[in-house]
Parts: sequence; C-alpha cells; structure tokens
Amino acid sequence: MATSQAAYLAEKTIGHDGSAITAQDVTNYGGEAGKEETMKALCWMGKNSVEVRDVPKPKIIEPNDVILKVTGSTVCGSDLHLYHGTVIQLNKGDILGHEFCGIVDEVGSAVKKVQKGKRYVASFQIACGDCFFCKQKLSSQCERTSANTTQRAMYGGQTAGMFGYSHFTGGFAGGQAEYVRVPLGDVNLLEIPDGVPDEKALYLSDVLATSYNAVHDTAVYPGDQVAIFGAGPIGQMAGVFAIKAGATKIIFVDTEPRLTFIREHWPSDHADKLELVDYKKLSFGVTNKPTVVSKLKDLCGGRGPDAAIEVSNTSLHRL
Ligand SMILES: [Zn+2]
Ligand SMILES: [Zn+2]
Repeated sequence: MATSQAAYLAEKTIGHDGSAITAQDVTNYGGEAGKEETMKALCWMGKNSVEVRDVPKPKIIEPNDVILKVTGSTVCGSDLHLYHGTVIQLNKGDILGHEFCGIVDEVGSAVKKVQKGKRYVASFQIACGDCFFCKQKLSSQCERTSANTTQRAMYGGQTAGMFGYSHFTGGFAGGQAEYVRVPLGDVNLLEIPDGVPDEKALYLSDVLATSYNAVHDTAVYPGDQVAIFGAGPIGQMAGVFAIKAGATKIIFVDTEPRLTFIREHWPSDHADKLELVDYKKLSFGVTNKPTVVSKLKDLCGGRGPDAAIEVSNTSLHRL
C-alpha cells in the first residue's frame, strides 16, 4: 500500500484530537456515484495518478456550510506535493484543489452574509474566524478547523484545515470540481465585485495573498535590493509587490524558459530594476567559476541582496 494511504489509516486508528469545530475527513462526498446527483471532480487515485471522475455532489452537512458552483479553479505548484505523494495521508478518491471561485448554489441555515447567486472567491485555508490566531488575521494557523493528530506529532502543532490538501490538513474536498462544500462559509468566502472577472479574483485564493505576504512579512524597505528564488507566478507577483514596497533592484534566480517569460512581461517602467540570474549557467561552488552567491554579491555592491524571498516553497528570509 502507498505510504500516503497507510499514514491515513494510522491517523484513523490513533484518532483525531477533538480540536476541530467542523467535520473532518470529508474529502469526497460519499465515494462512488450511486443514485445521487453527480458532478465531475479531479480525484487523487494514488501516487502520480489523478482522474476526473463522476462523484456525488456535495450537500450541506453543517449549518454554516455553503455549496459553491465552481466557475474557476487552478492547479498550484503545491498540488505537485500531493501528486508525488510527499504530503501524506491522501486517500484514494480524495478531491483536490485549494484555489477556486464560483457562484453560491446553496447556503446553510446559520449562514448570515454569503448569499445564493452571488460570486465569491474562497480562501485556500479554512478558518473559524474566532480563535487566538484568527483574531490576529493569522488564519492559516486557525486552531479549530483541523484536528489531525499526526500533524501535531510531526510539527508540534496544527495548521488550519485546507481545501483539497489531504487528511493531514483536516480532510476537506477541494475545488477542482464542479461543486465544492465550503465549511464556515461566512468566514472563508470573499464576494467578487461585478467588474472583476474570475481570472483575476481567483488569484486571491492563494497566489496573490501568498506573494503579497512573502514581501511584507520579509520586510522589504525602500531602496532594498531583493533576490527572488523561483520565478513562477508567485515569484513574479512578489517582484511586483517588492517594487511597490520601494525596492530598487529585483533579481530573479531561476532558469529558462521562466527567465525569458519574466523579461517579456516585466513592467517596462521598471526595466532598469530587473536582473535575471540563470543558476544553470553558474557553478555550484566546486570550482573557482562564478556561483549564484558570487553573482548576487557582484550585483549588490559586493555584499549581496538586502532581502531574499524563496518562492519555490515560499519560505522567507530577511538577510
Ligand atoms: Zn496554491
Ligand atoms: Zn480560527
């Protein structure tokens, strides 16, 4: 049996710790389709295996639930960790996807703000809105939406529950599906103004919020020279946010074809601030040839950048 599924069975045997206020392990809506209404959803079927399947549509199971008809969804770099089996505790048939927006199809009896027929974008993490961390707007650390015992044992604590991100983060069906159940809907959905298309609003689920916080939590000051490791969508947006924070030089460390894409799409009024470093053309330090480190020092007055943002896995470092 795959490690990921074995780890899920272990969690089931040990049991959750009771810290969640919303149902755990609703990663699909009832297994194989029977007589119920069905929808199409992307399901994890094992390591390196996903399938679009016909599965039961979600139903309201808690009074704060919202059922969203998905009109936009994305595939994230983080989904690769699930696909490759490096995030444990997936189970066969789990519905993936943590970035999505849509139109409200149904609301539970306790939902106050979210309205049927309106458009909303979902937060990738599921927050209660009311615990120690949620009150500080640190909702990815919500203490009441995941009760996963294995995560607490491995990391010393639990994150918030997350859509489409294995039982390890609570076990919630994701939004790479025609419909999705959003627990605590009033907290986890943001209304989309009429003038904003799905293709723009969708970035608020993860990419835009992650890149914005990468820049501001790292603390980029006016005049800083900033190195960005990883030039994917989050890296590109982090570069733009760093410019807005007053950075005078943005150095992207990556390789082709991403560096050419950046060169072609970078705002032309900030062209003088852009530097591209292709790590594949540099040595890894076993010779006297230039390395990424020596190149960064050369570009930044011999000292190196003031701040570095690593956005291949989104960890942050202030130098
Ligand atoms: Zn994501
Ligand atoms: Zn909370």
